[in-house]
Amino acid sequence: MTAFHNQPYVVLEQPEQANGASGVLINLMLDTEASMLVALSEQYGVRRIPGLNKSSLIQRILSLCSTEQLDDLQNQLIAARYGSFSVAELIDLAVRLADADSKPRLQSISAGEATLLEQKQGRWLFTMRGHDVVIDTSRRTLSCDCHYFTFAAHRHGLCKHLALGFTLIPEAYAHRALVDLLVAAQYGGDDTPYWRFTRSSAA
Ligand SMILES: [Zn+2]
Repeated sequence: MTAFHNQPYVVLEQPEQANGASGVLINLMLDTEASMLVALSEQYGVRRIPGLNKSSLIQRILSLCSTEQLDDLQNQLIAARYGSFSVAELIDLAVRLADADSKPRLQSISAGEATLLEQKQGRWLFTMRGHDVVIDTSRRTLSCDCHYFTFAAHRHGLCKHLALGFTLIPEAYAHRALVDLLVAAQYGGDDTPYWRFTRSSAA
C-alpha cells in the first residue's frame, strides 16, 4: 500500500487493465485504503482474501467485476472523495491546483463586477474587468485572457475570474463541472477526457 502512496499515477502493467477500467478508476483505487477497497468490492461479490497486497487486490477487483460494476465503483470513489464538498470548497481546491501555496485574492473581485453576456446549453460567457471569461460545461472548456490564466492552465487550475464565474452559474452545473475537472486533474490517465484551457482572445 505504502509503495504506491507516493506515486498515485502509476498504471499497473497487467493485461486486465484493459478490461473496461479507466485510468481514473485505477488511480483512484491506488489512492484508496485497501480496507476501503475490500469493503466496497464486497458489494459486487468479490470475496475477501486476507493478506492481499493492494496491487493484487486491484487486479482481483478488475478481473471479477463487470464494466457496470467498475463504473459504479468509480462513481462511489469519486463521491466519497468530492461529494461532500460545497461549490466554494471545490473552487478552492481547483484554485490550488494552479498554486498550492497561495491562491489568487478572490476578495479582490466581486460578483458585482461580472456581467453575464451570453448563456446557452451549459455555456456561460462573462465579462469581468475587461476579461472575457467562458465556462463551457458541455465541451469541458474554460477560457480567460488574464495573465495568471496562462500559468494556471498548465496545471488545470483556475484564475480568480474563472473562480468567480463558477460561483455565478447554477450550483448543480458548477458542482458537477468542478468535480469532473478535479478528478481529471488529480486522477486522470491517458484515456481521460481532460478540460481544455484556451485563452479567450484566441477562442
Ligand atoms: Zn482570469
